[in-house]
Amino acid sequence: MAERNALVIGGAIGIGRAVVLAFAREGARLVIADHTHATESEEIATEIRAGGGDAICVECDVTVESDVVSAVEATIARYGSIDVLVNNAGIGESPGDFADQNWADWQRLMDVNLRGIALGMHYALKPMLKQGYGRIINTASQLAHKPAAGAAVYSAAKAGVVALTTAVAQEVAARGVLINCVCPGPTDTATWRQSDADWRRWKEAQLPIRRIAQPEEIAPAYVYLASNDASFMVGQSISPNGGDASW
Ligand code: NAD
Repeated sequence: MAERNALVIGGAIGIGRAVVLAFAREGARLVIADHTHATESEEIATEIRAGGGDAICVECDVTVESDVVSAVEATIARYGSIDVLVNNAGIGESPGDFADQNWADWQRLMDVNLRGIALGMHYALKPMLKQGYGRIINTASQLAHKPAAGAAVYSAAKAGVVALTTAVAQEVAARGVLINCVCPGPTDTATWRQSDADWRRWKEAQLPIRRIAQPEEIAPAYVYLASNDASFMVGQSISPNGGDASW
């Protein structure tokens, strides 16, 4: 990824942070975009620059269209091009039955987890198609492929991300832009740290690997999809999930 210019949206903490640091180790120049966690973003950028790399931070809420446009423009303004986009911003769903669905919650989750991804793809595509090169990696979830009770809306949004990835990838692959997605299994980030300890122990016992992932174990899938080694990957899902086949 040396000399590649990458925008990571939702890059301040968790899986996004691990992706940013992994990309930097591969020689990419980074724009870290997030709607909050400004301190964490600045810390990563400072760490990357201290190591001789290049990174800046921008504020971007994926529910605000003009923020997404600005993040793409900021990447091009800083580095001259946008070569890689990671669409990683996402929020979880409060566990509950769909029969009790709160529609404001539905809208918020769809705006971040599905529309936000669509906006990122849409606005990165124009400059990528113009330069005849681009890599877009969307974060979905294993729940996209194995929808689960209690997480209907999240599962539906993530299945939408997989569908968008597959469809749009076919439209642009011949023009040099490759779009794929990563579908992580349970990963030790803020969401999991807030979860009930018994639930977490039960979940870990269900996993063939008997533990949830660290974000650093998910990031290599992004590095691969952003690299030249993935030159024949079009519209695919990679699922680092510890062998999990269900919720
Ligand atoms: P996290 O909460 O640690 O990180 C999510 C990031 O997205 C944060 O930096 C957050 O600020 C950012 N974000 C949220 N809303 C945003 C918005 N409106 N605009 C811009 N940025 C926004 O969570 P994580 O576990 O690292 O999740 C990262 C991605 O991975 C998400 O898309 C999530 O759905 C997905 N995922 C997580 C797991 C897991 O078990 N942790 C499993 C499968 C998929």
